[in-house]
Amino acid sequence: MQIARSMAEIRSATAQARQNATSSDAESLALVPTMGALHAGHLELVRAAKATGAKVVTSIFVNPLQFGANEDLSRYPRDEAGDLAKLQAAGCDVAWLPGVDVMYPPGDATLISVGGPSAGFEGAARPGHFTGVATVVAKLFGQTGAGAAFFGAKDWQQVQVIRRMVEDLCLPVAINVVPTMREASGLAMSSRNRFLSDEERVVAPALYATLNDAAIRLRAGDKAADVLAQAEAALRARGFVPDYVSLVEARSLQPIAVLGAENRLLAAARLGSVRLLDNIEV
Ligand code: AMP
Repeated sequence: MQIARSMAEIRSATAQARQNATSSDAESLALVPTMGALHAGHLELVRAAKATGAKVVTSIFVNPLQFGANEDLSRYPRDEAGDLAKLQAAGCDVAWLPGVDVMYPPGDATLISVGGPSAGFEGAARPGHFTGVATVVAKLFGQTGAGAAFFGAKDWQQVQVIRRMVEDLCLPVAINVVPTMREASGLAMSSRNRFLSDEERVVAPALYATLNDAAIRLRAGDKAADVLAQAEAALRARGFVPDYVSLVEARSLQPIAVLGAENRLLAAARLGSVRLLDNIEV
């Protein structure tokens, strides 16, 4: 696995990966963007990318631009040596580790602001977050020249924001979405889970269980407003502080009251100091 830290290194590593690719299609170079602290969910993205036959670039960059003023960037877990060992074992071809000065060099003055699906939910809870995400992902596309990129369904709103950006800016990158990897308990894997106490770990899987119960009732035709209110109440009763439990059209993220062709249940809830996100198809 090649490790690149500068623009010159990533250009040369990706050129070499392209040469070694079995096909000359743009999609023969695939990008997996991450913020490190890698777990099995991240590695599943690498596996899915490799399964297409592509050479895989995994980026590790804790993006200051997507953290709010009240969010603790310094608390974000970092384990570069452990991450590199996991990527190597997963068969990743290139690890792209830009520093903040490489990502945002002096004079940097461009932001990408996506409307539509970035409004509401995480966009409302974390002002500026999706501008940070869209800007860094667009830069990663430009830096690597990847023709395909892999994102987790775990961050459903993020995927819709990226899809919107790619379509609106006519970026030549195929967006692939990989199902959420879960622990045996059903808890969605996340780098934030390490901050859960032992007691909270026992309770945390109730978020997914509550979404599944709500989905069953929605499919049975129960009124969405009642189902969502009861899901929030159930979470509160377990000790969560729910931020939202919403039924939305899966791509636009517009709230809906009646099931349509593609629907998603989105939830965010705080458990102790940890804000947990989850979502499922309905
Ligand atoms: P992050 O490092 O948290 O920014 O996540 C990097 C990528 O991994 C994003 O596309 C996430 O959606 C994805 N991801 C994180 N957790 C999971 C999971 N449990 N299952 C699948 N993908 C995930």
